[in-house]
Amino acid sequence: DIALYEAKRHGRNRVEHYTDRLKCLTINTKKTADAILKSLEQNDFIAYFQPQFDAHTLEISGVEALARWNHPEEGILSPDRFLEIAESLNVVSQIDAAVLEQALLQRARWLANDLAIDKVSVNISAQRLFDENLLQRLEQLDVVPGSLSFELLESISFDDKGAAVTDSIERIKSHGIDIEIDDFGTGYASILSLLKLSPRRLKIDRQLTAPIIVSAAQRRLISSIVDIGRSLGIDIVAEGVETMQHAVILRDLGCHTLQGYALARPMDSNALIDFARARSWMPTHRAQAV
Ligand code: C2E
Ligand code: MG
Ligand code: MG
Ligand code: MG
Repeated sequence: DIALYEAKRHGRNRVEHYTDRLKCLTINTKKTADAILKSLEQNDFIAYFQPQFDAHTLEISGVEALARWNHPEEGILSPDRFLEIAESLNVVSQIDAAVLEQALLQRARWLANDLAIDKVSVNISAQRLFDENLLQRLEQLDVVPGSLSFELLESISFDDKGAAVTDSIERIKSHGIDIEIDDFGTGYASILSLLKLSPRRLKIDRQLTAPIIVSAAQRRLISSIVDIGRSLGIDIVAEGVETMQHAVILRDLGCHTLQGYALARPMDSNALIDFARARSWMPTHRAQAV
């Protein structure tokens, strides 16, 4: 039966095709994994910095440190190219550590250069939150309260390690470090469990801020988040500010801090210094404000 034969042949081909692709993917993943481990030894994970702005004055109010892989062949790579694999290798903690050290180093440089960058935020993975090395490192630090924040994904607070999370966060806070809830509005954590962590800031994810131009319902949602923040003394940071129109609306809705491509992209440490210097030469930011 020719028809049946054809069908089988195609089916088998499809299966073979699929296994080939899977094999290829696994080989690539393995290659990336090896390269990640090597790059960790060679300190090829670096920090980029994205400025954050006061919504009203548009002055730089802080920066977020973002991990980049300075890949020996491919150049600077973003976290979507390595974070997942680093997590499965259990080394994301080491990347977090490298970014923290560079953030601290750069902060000292900003101070020495008289640049008004008052705060740096670093992202902390779930792995890192339970890393004894982190807590040991914090013992050695002399953090000026308010100058350093840890950004946690809201998913971190929602797993079964609830008590351990609270414990670790209390220890972090006892060193004068602020907690920020990252990508707020995209996870499944209850608002109650998040607020138990007494964060200093909530960062509203880009998925929630992007549609505000076209959606009144979305604007009301942001407005309610701002209200919650106001009643609890939690500042609201809007992420993904991609146009000045977003900036104006988010400011008018009451967001305190703006972060996004319309205002500044993530940049390396030298570019950040140039950027901050250029800003500080402007006589008044208020005149520049939207
Ligand atoms: P995040 O912490 O929410 O960081 C914001 C991300 O949005 C950054 O992507 C940033 O480049 C991007 N972004 C900023 N403004 C805009 C905008 O206006 N439009 C758009 N489309 N995107 C914008 P990035 O650097 O690729 O980082 C992605 C995620 O990787 C971060 O999201 C964070 O969850 C994670 N990550 C970054 N660095 C680290 C790190 O050192 N440790 C850990 N554990 N995670 C990190
Ligand atoms: Mg973040
Ligand atoms: Mg975020
Ligand atoms: Mg994000």
